[in-house]
Amino acid sequence: AAPVMTLDGPGGAGKGTLASALARELGWSLLDSGALYRLVGLLSLRRDLDAEVTDDLDAAVNASRALDLVFEPDRGDGQRVRLDGEDVTDAIREDAVSAAASKWAVQPRIREALLARQRDFAQPPGLIADGRDMGTVIFPDADLKLYITASAEERANRRFAQLSALDVDANLGRIYREILERDARDASREVAPLKPAVDAHVIDTTGETVAASLERVRCLVSE
Ligand code: C5P
Repeated sequence: AAPVMTLDGPGGAGKGTLASALARELGWSLLDSGALYRLVGLLSLRRDLDAEVTDDLDAAVNASRALDLVFEPDRGDGQRVRLDGEDVTDAIREDAVSAAASKWAVQPRIREALLARQRDFAQPPGLIADGRDMGTVIFPDADLKLYITASAEERANRRFAQLSALDVDANLGRIYREILERDARDASREVAPLKPAVDAHVIDTTGETVAASLERVRCLVSE
């Protein structure tokens, strides 16, 4: 089996940045599992599917199994996401899609429908898997498991700085409150609640630069 390294943790902890840097350095592929839930969210909005309606849930489960998705390298550091050939990289980052994604993510049938597809990403020379349940549910036998975290305040500050850099109007207090709410929801949900795998290395990136966090991770990789 191909080697797998998992990075789990709350939103805004710096997982995505670390995961793509590691994938590049090692020449491994990258699974952004959050993007899968976002694609389901996008589809559901476009098709007007409601998780509370049985027929709609059936339709979303079928769509999740059949997702025609392609990740392709970006010109920069990231990757682009295609759904049925359409570039939806930016569309899946919209707030409405984030909200829809987190609603579908609590549905066990949706998680089940996406499971095999996530495991299929484990191909030689190796996979970096970024998400919430990579080390606990999807790749329990991963070779190295990391749990990347940072204080809620720090995560709010980072998000605020990101939005400000994009010239988006943002309110730090509101971002902070939303982060606390999302943390509580992620930790308390019945399916795949967010928690470190028992054998995960916990890396708290509060007050640390990306370069410093990356260096700590490199040390673990070379152990
Ligand atoms: O990480 P990101 O913000 O892209 O995740 C989108 C949504 O999918 C979030 O609501 C998150 O809780 C959920 N998710 C999940 N399991 C994963 C990855 C993301 O439930 N492995």
